[in-house]
Amino acid sequence: MKNKITRLIIVSIISLLALSVIQGTLIKNTYDLKKENFINKAKEAISKIDDYTPGLDSLNIKWKTFLMDKLDEYSLNNLTKKEVVNELRRITDSINPLYIEAYNEELKKKKLGYNLKFHKVLKNITLVTERKKDTIFKGKNNPDFKLLGSEFENVKELQVSNSYWHTERSFSREINKKELSVNYELHFESRDYINIDKWQVIVLGKMKLILILSLLIFLVVIALLYYSIKSLITQKKNADIKTDFINNITHELKTPLATLSLATKMLKKEEVKNKPVVIDSVINTIERQNTRLQKLIDQVLNNSLGYHEISLSKQTIVIDQYLNTVLNDFLLSVESKKISFERDCSLKNKIALDKFFVTTALFNILENAVKYGGTKINVSCRIENNKNLCISIVDNGIGISKKNQELLFDKFYRVDTNEIHDVKGLGLGLYYSNQIIKAHKGTILVESEKGKGTTFTIKIPV
Ligand code: ATP
Ligand code: MG
Repeated sequence: MKNKITRLIIVSIISLLALSVIQGTLIKNTYDLKKENFINKAKEAISKIDDYTPGLDSLNIKWKTFLMDKLDEYSLNNLTKKEVVNELRRITDSINPLYIEAYNEELKKKKLGYNLKFHKVLKNITLVTERKKDTIFKGKNNPDFKLLGSEFENVKELQVSNSYWHTERSFSREINKKELSVNYELHFESRDYINIDKWQVIVLGKMKLILILSLLIFLVVIALLYYSIKSLITQKKNADIKTDFINNITHELKTPLATLSLATKMLKKEEVKNKPVVIDSVINTIERQNTRLQKLIDQVLNNSLGYHEISLSKQTIVIDQYLNTVLNDFLLSVESKKISFERDCSLKNKIALDKFFVTTALFNILENAVKYGGTKINVSCRIENNKNLCISIVDNGIGISKKNQELLFDKFYRVDTNEIHDVKGLGLGLYYSNQIIKAHKGTILVESEKGKGTTFTIKIPV
């Protein structure tokens, strides 16, 4: 059974983990989809700004014309590649403030609902002539060259598009009185990037409902699992306790029954029939065993009462008189055992209690003290805060570990017998004592250390 539960717990935990992984993957996929969707919408919103806004268009024409001039000079060997690139940087830097202003103006009209920045990065400038392919600038070999737009760090996810500008150029110029004609093809490649403030938060915000629901469902599943496993363990514990009880009671019943069957067999024998002395002694044994059986059955019947079902008939008693009588009776019952017994019960106060029940409770605790190894027992009483009568029963027996102390007052509970003692019992004594004291609106406290002894304190309101 224990193995079964462990296996069940392991399987449940593995399933829970698998479920979490699946759930995690689903959420990640949803996030990716939402992200893509969000970025696509942003891209779409700005797609036409750069090319189709008259203000920006004229600025674009300005730097493009300027670049073409510089490339012409380069073709005539009047400029180096580096100078062309520097010139390009100069012109774009000079028109950039105007460009940003015009761009933002356009953005405002789009009413996006979030902060968006845009810029264009140069990737490649290549001139192709009849004879060769001449690379003026190659983005791969250089740090990003921002052409136009705002300053920000590029994120791969927010890359918008590559744009190509391809044009053919032919012109002629007179150099040293010679007409020189120049032809080239320009391949200009740039890449657009956008930047959106805290875009991940915006995307997650769009998934709020899914996230909250998944978290809730997850918590509910964990709670259910926890609850099921916990109740399974409790059930198993209860079942164990009941099995123990059945074993104990069977054992307790077997001895008197065996004696009774032996006694009847004896009485049937011819040679016994003529001996009145033997018959008397056998009848006494039968009577004793009968009483023992009766007592056992009474114990089980009585002790199954809960404190609601105990009806008290209280009478006022003087504490020291009452306690000393109970203790004297108890001492008589354990006369045969060597026990040093001390008491300190000289309170003259009066208190109302049900003598019969409280005596049973005290006897149960005192019997336990002797049963579980006590050789020195000390009983004392005091009035606490003018409110409670406290009776403490201290023994030097085998003690009870902290873990077991919590379960002590449960029905049928006995500390694992293999561990410390092989004393028989039904595990009902303390349960019943506790019910009795509860019926008096009091409590029983236990303090104990394994191997050192135990103190039970009964508190009954005065
Ligand atoms: P019974 O129903 O016959 O009294 P029991 O003595 O086993 O059986 P309880 O009196 O309810 O049942 O006690 C429950 C368990 O608590 C005991 O089995 C024992 O292990 C532990 N226990 C009780 N009193 C003491 C004590 N004074 N010292 C050590 N262990 C104790
Ligand atoms: Mg007991």
